[in-house]
Amino acid sequence: MTAQIIDGKVLADAVRADLAEKATALKATQGITPCLAVILVGEDPASAVYVKNKVMACEKAGFRSIKVVYPSDVEPMVVLGKIAELNADPDVHGILVQLPLPKQFDADAVLEAIDPAKDVDGFHAENVGALMQGNPRFIPCTPYGVMKMLESAKVPLKGAEAVIVGRSNIVGKPMAMLLLAQSCTVTVCHSQSKDLAFHTKRADILVAAVGRAKMITGDMIKPGATVIDVGINRTADGKLCGDVDFESCKEVAGAITPVPGGVGPMTITMLLANTLASAERTLK
Ligand code: NDP
Repeated sequence: MTAQIIDGKVLADAVRADLAEKATALKATQGITPCLAVILVGEDPASAVYVKNKVMACEKAGFRSIKVVYPSDVEPMVVLGKIAELNADPDVHGILVQLPLPKQFDADAVLEAIDPAKDVDGFHAENVGALMQGNPRFIPCTPYGVMKMLESAKVPLKGAEAVIVGRSNIVGKPMAMLLLAQSCTVTVCHSQSKDLAFHTKRADILVAAVGRAKMITGDMIKPGATVIDVGINRTADGKLCGDVDFESCKEVAGAITPVPGGVGPMTITMLLANTLASAERTLK
């Protein structure tokens, strides 16, 4: 059996086209252009690429973007001052600070400084709490994108065994909340889990979000399972790969996401969706 490929690029293009249309309508009818402000601190090349991609995605969808860049030795007070300024600007609908931040920063304090009504990454404690209570305001973009992929592939969720490998605040934990909200039976595995394969083999839906190249192999999954690969890793020869060994898993899974071209494009797409939703909420 060869699995159905859940193509994140195709889905992302379709969702972005829809968001661009909605942004055009919002501008035409209400004079509001959705605007995302992105703060980048330091010279980490991966972070610079992520920020560039976010800004480009805004432009393509007809959103406005503001990019603020600071050197790695900037005083945290300067960044907090900028966040306060953006919080107060009614023309800015989304604010995100690219992580990781340099050592002198308390990342939690920075995330908490963002107005929760503009926290389009969904990392503010108030938004995390709202998600936990089943009443989300901003859903963190990566798990939000995964839910859209499951929806588009018509994967049955109610009563499904969902196993998530990874328990980070940005992927694993919110992923668990979203799947639980859809009545999956959720197991979350992590670095201290005993017998990982015991859990993964039980999964109707397996989400890998670890950051270890090809750690999930075909013998670790249930025949017919839906396998979602969030991981982004580089092999020794510089190629991108996920946490899932695509070649062996695609022979066992029912559906699988590739890397690249899977969850990645959906993450930025859902950032746009959150920014548009924030802009639309200013009318209420
Ligand atoms: P973190 O490093 O924050 O979390 C990794 C998680 O994996 C931790 O919970 C850790 O457990 C767990 N883990 C580590 N080793 C093992 C192991 N051997 N067995 C089981 N669990 C293990 O990573 P992120 O959640 O931020 O990201 C995960 C991956 O997803 C990365 O490759 C990242 O690049 C990628 N990513 C991709 C995105 C996209 O858009 N496609 C967006 C965000 C992330 P413990 O808590 O015990 O340490």
